[in-house]
Amino acid sequence: MPVEPVAVSDLPVMILTGPPGAGKSTAMRTFRHSFPGLDHFGVRVFFQRQIELGTPLGVRAAVFHESRVWHPDEMILEGIALWLDQTLPDATRIVFESFPRNASQARAVDGLLAERGLRVNRVVSLDVPDEICAARVTGREVCVECDTIVADAIPVPGSACPHCGRELVRRPDDDRPTFLRRLARQRQGAVELLAHYEARGVLVRVDGTRPPAEVAQALLEAARTAPDAAQLKGDPENTAKVAG
Ligand SMILES: [Zn+2]
Repeated sequence: MPVEPVAVSDLPVMILTGPPGAGKSTAMRTFRHSFPGLDHFGVRVFFQRQIELGTPLGVRAAVFHESRVWHPDEMILEGIALWLDQTLPDATRIVFESFPRNASQARAVDGLLAERGLRVNRVVSLDVPDEICAARVTGREVCVECDTIVADAIPVPGSACPHCGRELVRRPDDDRPTFLRRLARQRQGAVELLAHYEARGVLVRVDGTRPPAEVAQALLEAARTAPDAAQLKGDPENTAKVAG
């Protein structure tokens, strides 16, 4: 089937990645504050919304979502395609958080973007050693209502969210054995994921152990210095589209 030539858009498309506990939620707050109107794709948030809306995809996703089993790749990619088509008409900046997680998912996401004239022009990896991730994650609590994360929470029953006053709970997947499994899986995929985007000249690694203000500054610097998507070299099959 012949493919229509697609001109490469200059819409910034970023991937924010890093192990659990690296500070991705905080990083997203930094980005939202500096780039109002950015569109954020996170797997759990996206499927939560689909379930609430009762869409066909939401109905299929519910079983994975409720049991906190990772959604199958095909389902996530279908979700991303849907999300892109709904988001793109008004988008000024796109950030994918924690997906893709490995090189094969990255190639699939690159393909979905290329079909729409888009390219990832910045990948930010928040680098934090295992022990610090483990200490942060196993010591935190999360609000049942608004997902505010309270770091180093003192485990007092009935402690309240500083933001909305609802109950704080420990996430079921934040216990140490579960956490270490998640971390090992993340580390495994990340090596290839980062190599994939480093080869394209879009990777920036940020030391997530530095003081919060310095991390925020490094994140914004990474976003602002992102190369123009149209100038990046793409996959061989996409280069033809750019030339045409
Ligand atoms: Zn709250």
